[in-house]
Amino acid sequence: MIVYESKLEGTQSQYGQLDAAIRTGRFVRNSMIRAWIDGQINSRNDAYKYCKVLADNPEFPWAKQLNSMARQAHAERAWAAIERFYRNCQAKIPEKKGFPKFKKYQVRDSVEYKTSGWQLSEDRRYLSFTDGFKAGNFKLWGSRNLHYYQLNQIKRVRVVRRHDGYYAQFLIDYKREENKELTGSQIGLDVGLNHFLTDSFGNKVDNPRFFRKDERKIKRLQRRLSKTKKGSKNRAKARNKLGRAHLKVSRRRNDWVCKLAQRVIQSNDLVAIENLKVRNLVKNHCLAKSISDAAWYRFREWLEYFGVVYGVPVIAVNPSYTSQNCSNCGQKVVKTLSTRTHKCPHCGYIADRDENAAINILKSALKEWSTTVGRTECQVSREIPLCLVLETDKSKGTQRKRKSKK
Ligand SMILES: [Zn+2]
Repeated sequence: MIVYESKLEGTQSQYGQLDAAIRTGRFVRNSMIRAWIDGQINSRNDAYKYCKVLADNPEFPWAKQLNSMARQAHAERAWAAIERFYRNCQAKIPEKKGFPKFKKYQVRDSVEYKTSGWQLSEDRRYLSFTDGFKAGNFKLWGSRNLHYYQLNQIKRVRVVRRHDGYYAQFLIDYKREENKELTGSQIGLDVGLNHFLTDSFGNKVDNPRFFRKDERKIKRLQRRLSKTKKGSKNRAKARNKLGRAHLKVSRRRNDWVCKLAQRVIQSNDLVAIENLKVRNLVKNHCLAKSISDAAWYRFREWLEYFGVVYGVPVIAVNPSYTSQNCSNCGQKVVKTLSTRTHKCPHCGYIADRDENAAINILKSALKEWSTTVGRTECQVSREIPLCLVLETDKSKGTQRKRKSKK
């Protein structure tokens, strides 16, 4: 699956209809969760059946307006949340099991269509929605050409609302495969705050300077937002500004890590990384750290993605002791966070702390790899495919007002 994304250009009233569709998608999802709590739904099939019940209920006339397959797609979303909860309960994970929550309104939300309820124009430059909300015809802004794919390869169309407008995502059934020459090189990567990453050859990649700049900018906008009065117009404006800044920053970071990941994959035959728990990453409240954590997480996703594309195994290993053990003799050498150099009293090996860790990561990955020979698929942690195309024509498509033809 690959995802193409382009911005939707329409009128304010058309955007209003998209809002209604998004709201209804959320309504379907929340109704499913409600029905599940009340014991009316016990399986995915029940959820599908319940779609019909919702649509036939005269109390909720809007439910019928949404395309029937889109209703199902949102029932699937609800069921996925319920299933995840069941799985966590079965796995007996400590702490929270993730009981399905009702979703509240937020700007970043989406509605998902399957193969009906929308139509592409002949030249594939326009997308129109044909369900009961009658959102009409939108111009598609973006650099990618949809001509390359058959219509029946488009499995889903998602309308995503962000702080800077509305986007259409096309989920295309296509497996990307690229050829790659063997390079004879295997690499281990260690991430840290001081450097974005250190590899097992001792090379370092620094955090780009814009990480710092972005952090300052977001802090400033955050302060400005907190000074405005609740419910005021200025507050709405400030929130939109902050939202846009977040978007810009994350696009920039994503672009940077994507290119870095592709370079790493292209120049190695095996890549070893630490299996850091996302749960722990999200917890911290330090902005600088959370920015580099988010970037690291995206980087890992891109590594796994390009790993599949180029046929390079990406192995995530248990991060414990990778920085403590000596990569030369295997003995444990205890150091504090501030010790930057690894000096082994047992064998006399001296190396940079992060380089030593990166070598350890590579070593345990190779060990793990050799015991699982025969396994061809590497573990891609993500179910939802990554978005290949980030909006490139930001300047052009910022919610332009087009005169409605009435
Ligand atoms: Zn040693």
